[in-house]
Amino acid sequence: MDEFIKLLDKDLKYLNHKIVDDMIYIYVVSTRNEVTCPFCGHKSLKTHSTYERSFQDFPMQGKKVQIIIKNRKMFCNNPECDHTTFAERFDWLGNKSKKTKRLEDEIMHMSLNCSSTAAANFLSKNTVTVGKSTICNLLKKRKTDNK
Ligand SMILES: [Zn+2]
Repeated sequence: MDEFIKLLDKDLKYLNHKIVDDMIYIYVVSTRNEVTCPFCGHKSLKTHSTYERSFQDFPMQGKKVQIIIKNRKMFCNNPECDHTTFAERFDWLGNKSKKTKRLEDEIMHMSLNCSSTAAANFLSKNTVTVGKSTICNLLKKRKTDNK
């Protein structure tokens, strides 16, 4: 399982997992030493606190995968920065997103070739929880990003 998690990010560490019905919950933690402040670019080594953040990733063994990360809140000790703390962010996960970018990409890919309703139906059968509205929002978001 640790290897699987490292495919997503080599700085993630697998803690444990549990299987409940058709869901696999995977608990992970980030082991990156230095975390870059997204507001000023300074690197921080000092953790302020942690909180749980969960998001969906590719299904495994026909089960939905929900990853729960102990997300770190770091101190920014740059006196010039407007923020004293910031949450660790990841390239592969949108700031407020509930799905990994690779899963969003897959959903997008599906949706470009059929209607949102058909894509939602297909994806649900393939054990990804996604509603028609989520797909529409993703499509809108991507269109805005590309402008
Ligand atoms: Zn900062």
